[in-house]
Amino acid sequence: MSQTILLLPGDGIGPEIVEETRKIMEWTVRQGLADLQFETGLIGGAAYDATGTPLPAETLTRAKTAAAVLLGAVGGPKWEPLDYSVRPERGLLGIRKELDLFCNLRPAMVYDQLADASTLKREVVSGIDIMVVRELTSDIYFGTPRGVETLPDGRKKGLNSMTYTTDEIERVARSAFEIARKRRGKVCSVDKANVLECTELWRQVVTALHQKEFSDLALSHMYVDNAAMQLIRNPRQFDVIVTGNIFGDILSDEASMLTGSIGMLPSASLGTRYALYEPIHGSAPDIAGQGVANPLATILSAAMMYRYSLNLPAVADRIEQAIVRVLDQGFRTPDIMQPGMKLVGTSAMGDAVLAALEG
Ligand code: NAD
Repeated sequence: MSQTILLLPGDGIGPEIVEETRKIMEWTVRQGLADLQFETGLIGGAAYDATGTPLPAETLTRAKTAAAVLLGAVGGPKWEPLDYSVRPERGLLGIRKELDLFCNLRPAMVYDQLADASTLKREVVSGIDIMVVRELTSDIYFGTPRGVETLPDGRKKGLNSMTYTTDEIERVARSAFEIARKRRGKVCSVDKANVLECTELWRQVVTALHQKEFSDLALSHMYVDNAAMQLIRNPRQFDVIVTGNIFGDILSDEASMLTGSIGMLPSASLGTRYALYEPIHGSAPDIAGQGVANPLATILSAAMMYRYSLNLPAVADRIEQAIVRVLDQGFRTPDIMQPGMKLVGTSAMGDAVLAALEG
């Protein structure tokens, strides 16, 4: 039976990069590699302009009946004067929360062809292939009590609460172990168990789950401050990193910057029933509408969809290999341009991936 993919192009460069990704996905259908049909929905500023809300109920309903969602990006200066409650970014936070997407996967891979784009030395970053698994629906961003109160003496006090329950820790840890099993079998759990009780519980739950269900894998623990250093000092030591929401927020940005090319980095956000795939970059208003955005992060996000939602890992491999071939052939959008390479725009880059798939 045909599966429905909901495309949410969003704002800025979103429509341009989603269109190129759709070309690739339609190719997999024509080849008989997947049985998919596509729907397009509204989110972000585009949804606000059309309906007065950044996350229309119809988008949410369609997301819940789709096999997976592919999102471009949301936001832009046009909507910055709006109240926070209707800003484009609320649409994104809203859909993640409504779909209960608790597990955020951010791979950080350095393509050999682009290793010089990193601000770190080639010998440090070359060959890195890290998967950061970040818990996405709990921790200090959601814990209560929270807020700012005025003390009797007039001073103000800000408060946020870091909270995790055993089930919240266990489900994301389980995802990380399952992913590690399909990779190099190594999980590093990052916490601050020396000073934060909440993360002491994190360490206990991860350790117990490892002993019970995943003792064939290698588990290590690292304090978050050390992890931040080790990511720069020797990033190749990592395979899968699993961590909570706030540590993951910071470490996944740090890991992605090892690669030096924001236009190349995909992500997946998974729940028990739903999944959403998107590039890690934003809507890039500075280059929107010019046909120069790099579509590869979004195409790689679609590859993750074939792997994690559609259970078609061989198709994911093929798309990823086609991208390596395109880079070998010297095709470059402006953000990854290097001397002597072939400068192409968004659509020509999509066509190059298509040609590499066909070739
Ligand atoms: P951004 O990621 O949009 O852009 C940062 C820089 O990277 C810009 O110079 C941009 O041109 C470049 N860039 C980004 N993606 C690129 C691509 N595919 N190809 C070539 N160059 C690319 O971040 P920003 O400028 O801080 O934010 C712009 C808007 O995007 C804001 O409204 C922000 O809120 C929103 N945003 C959305 C998401 C999301 O939808 N997930 C994430 C981050 C920011």
